[in-house]
Amino acid sequence: ELDIVKNVIITDEFSNAKIPVATGGQGIDFLVPTLLEMGTEEQKNRYIKPALHLDEIWCQGYSEPNAGSDLASLQTKGVLDGDEWVINGQKTWTSTAKYAHMMFCLVRTEPDVPKHQGISYLLIPMDTPGIEIRPLVDMTLNAGFNEVFFTNVRIPATNIIGERGQGWLVANKTLTHERSSLGDPNKMASRFNKLVELMKTESIDGERIIDKPVFRDRLMKTQGKVLALKTHGLRLLSSQLNKEQDVTLGRMIVKLYGTEMRYELESLAIDVMGELGTLYENSPHIRAAGSWQYAYMYYLGLIIGGGTSQIQKNIISERGLGLPKEPKYQEA
Ligand SMILES: Cc1cc2nc3c(=O)[nH]c(=O)nc-3n(C[C@H](O)[C@H](O)[C@H](O)COP(=O)(O)OP(=O)(O)OC[C@H]3O[C@@H](n4cnc5c(N)ncnc54)[C@H](O)[C@@H]3O)c2cc1C
Repeated sequence: ELDIVKNVIITDEFSNAKIPVATGGQGIDFLVPTLLEMGTEEQKNRYIKPALHLDEIWCQGYSEPNAGSDLASLQTKGVLDGDEWVINGQKTWTSTAKYAHMMFCLVRTEPDVPKHQGISYLLIPMDTPGIEIRPLVDMTLNAGFNEVFFTNVRIPATNIIGERGQGWLVANKTLTHERSSLGDPNKMASRFNKLVELMKTESIDGERIIDKPVFRDRLMKTQGKVLALKTHGLRLLSSQLNKEQDVTLGRMIVKLYGTEMRYELESLAIDVMGELGTLYENSPHIRAAGSWQYAYMYYLGLIIGGGTSQIQKNIISERGLGLPKEPKYQEA
């Protein structure tokens, strides 16, 4: 039985006991809650269980070469041909596409209406003929994301969440869940505990780093922010339980604050390790198999992924604080 309060208590206790927080990913964290809100019973029965068991890995086909922050400008086309969608176009920055079995994908299916109304949210099996995946190596030296090309890719007409042209609404449901999972307070608290351990183990001239006032100060500031994020998370939880309250902007704050803070936390770990912090890959002196260095680079990327900090600030200031809308660029 679904119980979001129990879920929070369990993850909190896992984090206190220094047990890694449960596996997530784009299927579990983004798609499953979207299906619960917007999917048909048949879709829920078909997709949720394999996603939760990681029998089906999902990737997210939103961004395109000319549609990132301005996502609604996407151009990948879907045309209904009998009982199939025929898809042509390109996605980019698609995390985990090369391992994924399925993609939830935004496709322009109604070319003649205003851009936000012409999008549909389609579910695409990644082994469908006509899909080509080209890995992109990022600064962690892994190919964390990919370009995905579609040439006459045919999928069943029923592989759609919501109605034709309702994709923008569904996409935003997914984005709301994505944003809160990217800055997850419990994952942050777990990581903070690891940082404390690191600072107790590493030393300079025989003195533990945690006992050095300069580093201790930075640790305390970070701890204050971790606790603030946790408190914000609990406030959002009670808003969620009181169904009439909208948590959309609150979750954007989780994304904005959480990803920037996580990067700050990983940066502190790099500084704590001194010259060892600059090592990467196969050095025998590297700590925790290089996971601090990897996370330091990866979380810099997450300030961009899921919508950049600038975009979160724009939306929070316009819709939350009532500041004037930014001027729109007009073609001459
Ligand atoms: C690690 C990582 C993983 C990702 N995974 C995925 C994925 O799985 N699936 C997927 O679809 N996408 C993914 N993305 C893509 C991500 O969503 C986009 O990179 C992001 O939305 C920004 O779009 P863009 O890269 O086109 O930058 P642009 O939109 O070109 O922005 C460039 C710069 O201009 C700024 N800017 C743009 N418009 C404004 C404005 N109106 N006001 C102020 N500043 C503005 C931006 O903040 C940014 O600094 C991932 C990205 C990263 C980094």
